[in-house]
Amino acid sequence: MIPFNKPYLSGKETIYISQAVASGKISGNGDFTMKCQYFFESKYHFKKCLLTTSCTDALEMAAILISISEGDEVIVPSYTFVSSALAFVREGARIVFADSEKNNPNIDVSKLETLITHKTKAIVVVHYAGVACDMDAVMELSRKHNLYIIEDAAQAIDSYYKNRPLGSIGHLSTFSFHETKNIISGEGGMLAINDERLIPRSEIIWEKGTNRASFFRGEINKYGWVDTGSSFLPSEVTAAFLYAQLECLDAIQAKRKAIWNTYNKGLQLLKTKGVGLPFIPDYATNNAHMFYLVLRSEEERSVLIKYLKKVKVQAVFHYLSLHKSDYYLKKNQSELPQSDLYTKHLLRLPFYYELSKEDQESIIVHILNFFNNE
Ligand SMILES: *Cc1c(COP(=O)(O)O)cnc(C)c1O
Repeated sequence: MIPFNKPYLSGKETIYISQAVASGKISGNGDFTMKCQYFFESKYHFKKCLLTTSCTDALEMAAILISISEGDEVIVPSYTFVSSALAFVREGARIVFADSEKNNPNIDVSKLETLITHKTKAIVVVHYAGVACDMDAVMELSRKHNLYIIEDAAQAIDSYYKNRPLGSIGHLSTFSFHETKNIISGEGGMLAINDERLIPRSEIIWEKGTNRASFFRGEINKYGWVDTGSSFLPSEVTAAFLYAQLECLDAIQAKRKAIWNTYNKGLQLLKTKGVGLPFIPDYATNNAHMFYLVLRSEEERSVLIKYLKKVKVQAVFHYLSLHKSDYYLKKNQSELPQSDLYTKHLLRLPFYYELSKEDQESIIVHILNFFNNE
């Protein structure tokens, strides 16, 4: 079976983990954590970075940091992972779900303003497949209505909007190093804080509501409980793994882009049949996080999944419109047709660093055959 995903190891992960273990400091916020954070702050100009145990955790930190409370409204795309909404629900927010664009699954920015009320506190944008949302338009809404912008950049490492790194534009942004992402640490994530006003509190929330980070820098002579928070930081074992990956980021990205381009070239013909391929707007770059098809019907998707399974190719779909989830069914939620369309029609193809040329060619041939038989 050609699997859908296979975590890639650069080779140095266990060496760095051994170093972390040998150092005697294996809890959080040690050398490897700081090296990873510095990597992001210097390469992508995020003002301040804090590693977390997941992107979900980073989103929860974001919700606490912007002081979400009962009655606040947060606008979130419906076509996304649960955590993009759940983190804010936990702090008492009411989620107002937004629809996706016609030509790609990103939030439809042109329809956002009608969703803003006097209760709106933040907009969460998700750079789906690592492709940028239209951030100039989003930041314009932020200024006009005094809203926080949170970039859920879980899939968007090393991707750009008009030459600006994704994750550097919103007030806060969150990344994932889950094993299905480009850069991994098993479970793992990061919060980037670009609004300087939020930096001091971010470290406190990260360290269980204490000013411990400040104490270890020698800025205060004792530390204690000063705010809300939780244990959001990963151990040095996780950070050591992550650092080994970051050292190979350019090679990983180059290989993934080659795989993406092979799919894109090999499957162009499908467009003439009305099957959608990923769309990258002029203002965005492609970080080769995933390759997907948008099929013509839900039924066609099911048949194709079965067909591929028979020839030993695992293709999967994801995201069921959150506005229709059992947990969040709200009577007055309006219809979001594009979100529902991606829910039913989008299919992800196998995508991982070690996907061989032969395997990829066979996947492409099988898919072309499937459509040629019509
Ligand atoms: C993967 C993902 C998450 C969750 O990341 P975890 O690190 O598993 O918590 C959140 N949002 C999006 C858009 C994702 O793709």
